[in-house]
Amino acid sequence: MSESVSTLSSASVELEGNMSAWRTRLNQERQFRIEQLAGIHHDITANSRLAHDELTMALRSAAISALNHIDAALMRMDAGEYGRCLRCAGPIPTARLDVLPMTALCMPCQHHQQTRRPVRS
Ligand SMILES: [Zn+2]
Repeated sequence: MSESVSTLSSASVELEGNMSAWRTRLNQERQFRIEQLAGIHHDITANSRLAHDELTMALRSAAISALNHIDAALMRMDAGEYGRCLRCAGPIPTARLDVLPMTALCMPCQHHQQTRRPVRS
């Protein structure tokens, strides 16, 4: 297993190099979502009917969900667990983190989760 150990250490060097860029992206995205939620809150305050508007509520829950993912990613970063898949514990490719810095899953696991639907219910 010496080969996988060296692969792992070179991957973590690569992770270190990108970490500050991902952290910056996450913080920017976080700020954007907070402003988005504040805007939605403002709209609802101005027009209480929007509280029952499906699109507004969908936007709001998407923003909250994104914010939760961002916070979780920042927490994993602080814990030194960033870049590792939560499901299979394998490394998440840096190219994927560049596209989606808040992701907690590698591509196969993400795919598995998205296609996992109750067959019988
Ligand atoms: Zn995985």
